[in-house]
Amino acid sequence: MAKDFYKILGVDKNASDDDIKKAYRRLAHQYHPDKGGGDEAKFKEVNEAYQVLGDKKKRQTYDQFGSAAFENGGMGAGGPFGGGFGGFDFRQGFPGGFSGGDMGDLGDILGEMFGFGGRGGSRDSARGRNIEMDMELTFHEAAFGVEKMISLYKQVACLRCKGDGAEPGSKTITCQTCQGSGQVKQTQRTMFGSVQVATPCTACHGRGKKPEKECTNCRGAGVEKREEKISIAIPAGIDNEEVVKAPGQGEAAPYGGRTGDLFLRVHVKSDARFERDGHDIHSDLVIPFSTMALGGTVTAETLDGHESIKVHEGTIAGTIVTLRGKGVPYLRSSGRGNHHIRVIPDIPKKLTKEQKRLLDELKKEGL
Ligand SMILES: [Zn+2]
Ligand SMILES: [Zn+2]
Repeated sequence: MAKDFYKILGVDKNASDDDIKKAYRRLAHQYHPDKGGGDEAKFKEVNEAYQVLGDKKKRQTYDQFGSAAFENGGMGAGGPFGGGFGGFDFRQGFPGGFSGGDMGDLGDILGEMFGFGGRGGSRDSARGRNIEMDMELTFHEAAFGVEKMISLYKQVACLRCKGDGAEPGSKTITCQTCQGSGQVKQTQRTMFGSVQVATPCTACHGRGKKPEKECTNCRGAGVEKREEKISIAIPAGIDNEEVVKAPGQGEAAPYGGRTGDLFLRVHVKSDARFERDGHDIHSDLVIPFSTMALGGTVTAETLDGHESIKVHEGTIAGTIVTLRGKGVPYLRSSGRGNHHIRVIPDIPKKLTKEQKRLLDELKKEGL
């Protein structure tokens, strides 16, 4: 509930500006959503913390009543915005003067924390929904990647107005309600007392402009529900339960908001021939025991098809023959894992008369 910015950055309350900067860099790098193992929520949190602690004035302000605001008069104690902050003048506490749109970054941050609309908050709330879905892939498709066409029934940009909400041919005019600023100022009660905040103008949905005549198909929202076919590139080397993100393929947002993302969770079907272990492949190959004793060439199935492999003279049962670079391609980088083939002797259940005779001869020879 309460956010401890120091804890989020993993630094001491007495940490130097330099330490804070270093901790931020390390964590931002670690959680960056574009990285493997990234974490968008954590990344956002770390950025939020640094926006305050990385700024001398904001950090001072946060230190001054951060803990009191969170622990005593906080949301948990006396209900939302309860506690002893009724008479507090917000503007005095925060140097730089806060009114409406002048709240700056900290306004956004506090807005998100306390639930009133900062500048950033209003944009985020207008974001299109993310879509999550499952997709089944064959063993081969997962190994080498595949282009998949999928059909989605979702909110998309209106065909008639191409998403801008205006009836084709209609002019765009400045919103009269907000005089084009896209915001209206409102006084809200917060735990710090009354504060003037800017909220998005409802008449123009924060855009400052609106169509003179709204689109007759979407009534100005710029979106409609429709089935859409999209092509998704599944990268080579993806493994079971991994997620592919297709940015901007989620649902469109009304009134020009950002489109959501599509997340595909991959389920890889098993293959009777191959077992996958990361980027390596394991398989068994049953070959005549005479080949194991005498050596020779046999044919093995690999991801790339049939491959000749050499078996050395005197190969014992269970020997692993490794085919380098014949495994699964590495996800989003070059190179491939290896294919390990376990050699198993074929002991026939039934022998022909001639085979039996020859084996009896071998037995006499001590084999
Ligand atoms: Zn439309
Ligand atoms: Zn407006």
